[in-house]
Amino acid sequence: MRRVGPLLGMAVLLAGSFATGGAGRPGAPGDPPLSERPSPSAAEPVWPEAAGVEHVPAPVVPSDGAAPARLAFTLVSPDRMLADLSALTAIGQDALFRTSGTSGEREAFDLVASRLSGFSHLAALGATVERVPFRVPLASEVHEASLSLRVGGSWVDVPAHALQGHRDDLSRALRFDSDGRAGDDRPDPVTAEGSPYFVQLPSSLYALPAGSMQGRVLFADYALLDRGVVSAAEATQAAAALLLTRPAALVLVTRYSNVRGEAHGSFVGDVSSLVSLLDPPPAPTLYARLEDLGPAGITDWAGLERVTSARVTWDQDVNVAAPSQLLAFRIPGADPSRAVLLGAHLDSPNSPGGLDDGSGSVALLETARVLDESRERPPVETVLVFFGSHERGLYGSSAFAAARSDLLDRAVAMLQLDCLTHPLDGLGGSLVLEARSHRALGDPRLPFPEALAALSARQGVGLAVWEAAGIVSDNSSFDGFDVPATDTIFASESMTEVHVEGHLHDPYDDVPLVALHRDDLADFARVALTFVLDLPREAGDLRPTPAPDRRAVFVASHTEPAHMTPAQQTVLGMALAHEGFDVDVVPYGVPVTDEELAGATLAVVLPVVDFADPTAAPQTYDEAWTDAEADALVRFAGRGGLLVVANSGSWLRYGSTPVGANEDALDANAVASRFGASFEDRRLSGSAATATGTHALLSGVSSLVLASGNGLAIRPGSGQVLARAGSDAALVLVPWGPSGGEVLVLSDLAVLGGQGATAPNLRFLQNLASWARTRPAP
Ligand SMILES: [Zn+2]
Repeated sequence: MRRVGPLLGMAVLLAGSFATGGAGRPGAPGDPPLSERPSPSAAEPVWPEAAGVEHVPAPVVPSDGAAPARLAFTLVSPDRMLADLSALTAIGQDALFRTSGTSGEREAFDLVASRLSGFSHLAALGATVERVPFRVPLASEVHEASLSLRVGGSWVDVPAHALQGHRDDLSRALRFDSDGRAGDDRPDPVTAEGSPYFVQLPSSLYALPAGSMQGRVLFADYALLDRGVVSAAEATQAAAALLLTRPAALVLVTRYSNVRGEAHGSFVGDVSSLVSLLDPPPAPTLYARLEDLGPAGITDWAGLERVTSARVTWDQDVNVAAPSQLLAFRIPGADPSRAVLLGAHLDSPNSPGGLDDGSGSVALLETARVLDESRERPPVETVLVFFGSHERGLYGSSAFAAARSDLLDRAVAMLQLDCLTHPLDGLGGSLVLEARSHRALGDPRLPFPEALAALSARQGVGLAVWEAAGIVSDNSSFDGFDVPATDTIFASESMTEVHVEGHLHDPYDDVPLVALHRDDLADFARVALTFVLDLPREAGDLRPTPAPDRRAVFVASHTEPAHMTPAQQTVLGMALAHEGFDVDVVPYGVPVTDEELAGATLAVVLPVVDFADPTAAPQTYDEAWTDAEADALVRFAGRGGLLVVANSGSWLRYGSTPVGANEDALDANAVASRFGASFEDRRLSGSAATATGTHALLSGVSSLVLASGNGLAIRPGSGQVLARAGSDAALVLVPWGPSGGEVLVLSDLAVLGGQGATAPNLRFLQNLASWARTRPAP
């Protein structure tokens, strides 16, 4: 049954909805040194040449009948999966677990690579492991986080964990850096020791005078700021009240509960309300699970009163433009002209990540193991992708989707496994496929999840199909490339917030909870095997769009945030697909050339922008267009192509949300000025641009929604101004050359954004796609 799912949008990634806000990154005058840059070109894979996408009419999938007895499906072993999971969740226990950009995340990738290297039959088939580096704007590394309690005259060490700071905003993130300086990984531990004070009730907390905890270690029941049980405003107020007492150190104590309405540590390690504060001054802060205090003889809150002294030692460093990665395991199939993509995310949100997304990650490993043991050759090229930095905001899958146009063109579908949950008592739950349809463009069908559900039913695995309104998981990064994509999650229609009600992003997301779901874990792997073995054999074309007969190229050669490509400009990608465009990307780090633009009738030049380190010397790294690249773009317009040159005063999250200043914005002039237009060093005011004139691009559009303060004013040269913000040109069309070329200069890339059920400028995106198709052909 298809239904619009409950509020699971943003299901398992918690895309900063709690942690955003604030002024964004301070100005970023410098860039990281070249030696720290990833080199995507060096990591280019050797995917087989695309052999064209086969477009067969509607999928025909038998929905009943007995499953054939198949060796592969009988080989699935939840015991092996749980053993893998134990190894995975043990990583980073004394640091930030497998959090994006940390040593724990790197160790997890090493573990997966090591497991995959042991599959000799797959190796004989030609399977390869490729690890692709990319960077994330911020990460931190914990060198030490320890808690000692003095009980009955002796000191006892108990497990405790550090908190990850803000995901995007450096000034906030640095409150969780033990020396307050980014990018320095010298040991600089802070030790705080003092007599303890315990606060459990709001009335006790608010009775504490400011400054009253100086020299003491304040233990707080995390329920005071757990947004599973208190409002965001109450949580923020409690966090500020704790810090106002100026403790020498703060220890947040969590307790397990599976009862609705009771706290169980939701978000304590990652996006707690402490993370968003800019004041009062921070204190060294750790969290501890009450259940881990047994070595000190403490089993309940009252037992804490036996502690006579406490000592916190903490050493943590924030890194800007930190390295992360993804791993693609490619198994050649019988038909190399088609591919299936099976994904999971390996990083965790500073939690053991047993369910989220250890469960999906070990299901991928089990899929590979079963294929190896059964010696069954996959029908099509099979790519298992372990994404990093999902919890920072889908960075791994965005980077992958933006860099693998050739593979995406051949993809039958993409299936994400993210993730099993352990629902609170009474909620129930079952496996669900959650996917975004093209409803915004008038087509609500979901042929891929419907086909997969029908095939899985034959294997005895029931899958409901839910339509998602917005981002779900890493599958969502593929929607803008017209790759049928869906996520598999264990969920219940009764859930309203899957993290809180499913034990995701809390410190109890560990192996014991997953072990309660052995059968579901095995079903996860069976769904994956159905996807890999049966779907490509039995389903036809699962795309709801016409077979492409045109090509659009997004040029991201100097655009590091993959969020500024169709990976997160989803509705634009969908609109182009509806007009018959195949959407490709020239990825970050790959120069644009005539060859890259061959066969395209639309090219979108994305802004020059990187995750620059404001603390690094400005001359060390400078992204910029080369003359040869600008020449290739001029030749493209000269051949009659439609060239869009877009700019952005900030780097954008999810295609439309400004985050940090883009110090490279004026570098766009190296391209724009070749067409007589240029960007001024001045931001557009206002949050809308008014359409002027009657050009078809603005048919039915009275104004364009801008990201406030993000667009740059345009000097139009000889171009026609199509929209203005105040007195500034915001959209300019320049005719170019004798072959009918045109250059559309756009002050704010966010105008092209929109990845939910709709986009603020939907009609304009449709007009652009339609104009690109119907304007006089070159
Ligand atoms: Zn997840």
